[in-house]
Amino acid sequence: MPSASSSSYVRRSRRKVGNRIAGAAPSTNGPNTSGATAHQSSSSSSTTSASSSSSSNNLGNNASSSPFPLENSAPTPQNINGGGSAASEGSTSTCHHQSPYDLRRKIPDLWNGISTSTIATNFVPLLNTSTSFSLQGVPYLEETLSTASIRKRPRTATATSSTSSSSGSNHPGTSSLSQQAFESNLPPAAHYLQYEIPDEVLLTIFSYLFEQDLCRLSLVCKRFNIIANDTELWKRLYQSVYEYDLPLFNTDLCKFSFVKPDSSEYDNPWKESFRQLYRGIHVRAGYQDKKYKSRRIIYFDTIATALEYPEDFKQKQNQRILRLDQYDDDKNNSSNATSQPIIFLHSGHYKDDYLFIDSDVAWIGAAPGANVAEHVILERESSSTVMFFEGANHAYLGFMTLKFSPDNTSTVQHHKHYCLEVSENCSPTIDNCIIRSSSVVGAAVCVAGRGANPTIRNCDISECENVGLYVTNHAEGTYEHNEISKNALAGIWVKDGAKPVMRENHIHHGRDVGIFTFENGEGYFEKNDIHNNRIAGFEVKAGANPTVINCEIHHGQTGGIYVHENGSGQFIENKIHSNNFAGVWITSNSNPTIRKNEIYNGHQGGVYIFGEGRGLIEHNNIYGNALAGIQIRTNSDPIVRHNKIHHGQHGGIYVHEKGQGLIEENEVYSNTLAGVWITTGSTPVLRRNRIHSGKQVGVYFYDNGHGKLEDNDIFNHLYSGVQIRTGSNPMIRGNKIWGGQNGGVLVYNGGLGVLEQNEIFDNAMAGVWIKTDSNPTLKRNKIYDGRDGGICIFNGGKGVLEENDIFRNTQAGVLISTQSHPVLKRNRIFDGLAAGVEITNNATATLEYNQIFNNKFGGLCLASGVHPITRGNKIFNNQDEVEKAVSSGQCLYKISSYTSFPMHDFFRCQTCNTTDRNAICVNCIKNCHAGHDVEFIRHDRFFCDCGAGTLTNQCQLQGEPTQDTDTLYDSAAPMESHTPMVN
Ligand SMILES: [Zn+2]
Ligand SMILES: [Zn+2]
Ligand SMILES: [Zn+2]
Repeated sequence: MPSASSSSYVRRSRRKVGNRIAGAAPSTNGPNTSGATAHQSSSSSSTTSASSSSSSNNLGNNASSSPFPLENSAPTPQNINGGGSAASEGSTSTCHHQSPYDLRRKIPDLWNGISTSTIATNFVPLLNTSTSFSLQGVPYLEETLSTASIRKRPRTATATSSTSSSSGSNHPGTSSLSQQAFESNLPPAAHYLQYEIPDEVLLTIFSYLFEQDLCRLSLVCKRFNIIANDTELWKRLYQSVYEYDLPLFNTDLCKFSFVKPDSSEYDNPWKESFRQLYRGIHVRAGYQDKKYKSRRIIYFDTIATALEYPEDFKQKQNQRILRLDQYDDDKNNSSNATSQPIIFLHSGHYKDDYLFIDSDVAWIGAAPGANVAEHVILERESSSTVMFFEGANHAYLGFMTLKFSPDNTSTVQHHKHYCLEVSENCSPTIDNCIIRSSSVVGAAVCVAGRGANPTIRNCDISECENVGLYVTNHAEGTYEHNEISKNALAGIWVKDGAKPVMRENHIHHGRDVGIFTFENGEGYFEKNDIHNNRIAGFEVKAGANPTVINCEIHHGQTGGIYVHENGSGQFIENKIHSNNFAGVWITSNSNPTIRKNEIYNGHQGGVYIFGEGRGLIEHNNIYGNALAGIQIRTNSDPIVRHNKIHHGQHGGIYVHEKGQGLIEENEVYSNTLAGVWITTGSTPVLRRNRIHSGKQVGVYFYDNGHGKLEDNDIFNHLYSGVQIRTGSNPMIRGNKIWGGQNGGVLVYNGGLGVLEQNEIFDNAMAGVWIKTDSNPTLKRNKIYDGRDGGICIFNGGKGVLEENDIFRNTQAGVLISTQSHPVLKRNRIFDGLAAGVEITNNATATLEYNQIFNNKFGGLCLASGVHPITRGNKIFNNQDEVEKAVSSGQCLYKISSYTSFPMHDFFRCQTCNTTDRNAICVNCIKNCHAGHDVEFIRHDRFFCDCGAGTLTNQCQLQGEPTQDTDTLYDSAAPMESHTPMVN
């Protein structure tokens, strides 16, 4: 007769949450209800602090009504381990299942060393029949039960017979037991145990058992199976052996990870973890001499004794696998994951113990708490704490703290001693370890030699008084998710041909550089977060050639990336920002590739190339840096192309002190100072860049800045598009320079330069200014649609202007003034909205073979005293509107207003007390100032102040007066940029 509550087990048994046995059956009543509820949701610690008084009362009451005293009806106990035992007195207190109460409240704490209770042996008859049933029958059993009747035995025996035979002959008589015999020979006591004893009592009894007995019991019947798989039962059992707060799974070779029971795929994650880890031996002080029946766990008190054990590890391991066959599942048993020997190192501080590992053993810390490694500490003072050598191909070390703590005042040298050492031809996994070294020399972790290829992950290598991780001498390895911080020297050193793969590490707050690759170190660095290091985030030196991808390198106390002394490397798609110095430094013949990075918000520049640095800087987005986006200095010669350089607080590209560089197809815009500065002997080549929307000059050559500026688009600057001054002599060819809010090109203060075939248009002021002793050459440029003059030459400006087309400008096509003396040959100056060529203020010019036509005011207009050298010019079809206005009696203001300066005779009026800045046109003198005391001043550019209404008398020739405009005689003075304050 099945128990009334067994039907509920069928339902529960298939729940994802695991096989929790309810403390109370559905018929729970009275004062026990609350206890049952509390039990279901409470932790193991609270359930053990039971209200034992009520429990014992219930026990007593029910004992009297028990119809089957167990001791009378039980068959002779026969322990499978060979040790028989008599029925215990405790078993008389069997209770009826109608008296539910929270049994788990009075489960004694059996797990710390008490040998198996005699109660357990009462069930040995059952075990005797099921010793060969392996766990693999369990899911099958449950599945069968969902459709079959409770009492019908599933074909478990058949299903497991192959297991039994394959696992050897040490389980006699198993497959021969027939299902029929099992049922018909069922003794009365067994019947009672199987079907009538209450679940709660069974659970209590089971709680005295160990893992192997529980497995066997689970094969007796469906009910036993469910109770023996109770998750809480297994959690206690598990934690008594492994100490972990969460079940640890061995999912693959060298893979161990904790899984929260709720998110485990297993119904009973504790039991599953138990199964996976069962082969392990344990180093746990005080356990070596304890003997457990029905438990096959090997304990050692110390590391030293455990280390002696693996001498014939292979053989013993094989024995243990065989013995565990009944526990282990066949398919897992054959996998690598379950054949790797495991040694658990339990909580403790192991001083002066060390590990020398040259086989595929797994050493795992075992302790309670959120961070297991904190409670298992291996510390050594004299030499390396853990060493892996050849033969450790699939060794594993996890969940421990490794310390190397030498006496730094002693004279012993510890250059070659480490917390963790991995030498050639081995590939261990080091996982979830805390690594601390107080040695003031060397490194905490050293991976050295060809074939040294460890996996180091989830480790915390911090607060060491030396280098954190040192990979050298052609070593490799995979390093992932490590925390490397606050070390006295570099976080990571990679040198001497080493090629580590480092992913998603967190390298920060080092007291030196974050990652240092040097002496031909290589390596692949991906998605690392590198920040707040005292020196550069990533340093490359002396032939090193790392590949750095998708890293974030930021908030360094100096620069982000520092490449020097013939360093190279590929830096791709990194975020480099908020560093105190430049985001990237390149110097001393280094030649890295800097591609597709975001380089921004630096407290100095973006990329800084100096001291004969080179490099390929391309497709980067460089913005918001306090100094230049890219700075090229001291004979450096990089290739800079396809970058966006913008919104800098300084200039875009700054080339100085003999800097060079090929700067192509970049977009340089919205910078606070010049888009490009070229100075002090520099000779870069800039081609096909778009340089625009700067808050000062577009391209600025000064103090002997040279180089080539070809085919660029330069537009929309607040100052001139191009400025050339103080000895600078660039070649400027094929550019389009437009939309400036000042002039197009300004050459001044001794500036030179050759400007060829540029298009200069739509600038607010002159297309080209030539001033103050400058002497550029302009050939075949098109200078048009300016909102002021085409070319304005002032203040001793010179220049050679040949074959330029100068047209549709608002003011004079060419205005030559104030002691200037340019040479104009074969230019075409036409369609101007004022004069073609005007020469004034003691300037002169050489004009040869120019064509000057269809200009509004006139062709060639010369002020008083101006006598240019002219030869072969063609001046024709000009509209001569000034002469026409004069001869028709108009005031000249009518054609000029205050925005242009027609050239004609101008006068002053003593009667009207005009100043020497006032000018009055000839017709106003005749009409408005008729009879006044007037004087002729000269023939020159002016607009009429009488017509403008700025004089006291009313102009007779104008309508209403316009606004006072004592404005520009010349165009506005160009604004000059400041010299950058860099280095
Ligand atoms: Zn006038
Ligand atoms: Zn007057
Ligand atoms: Zn007038």
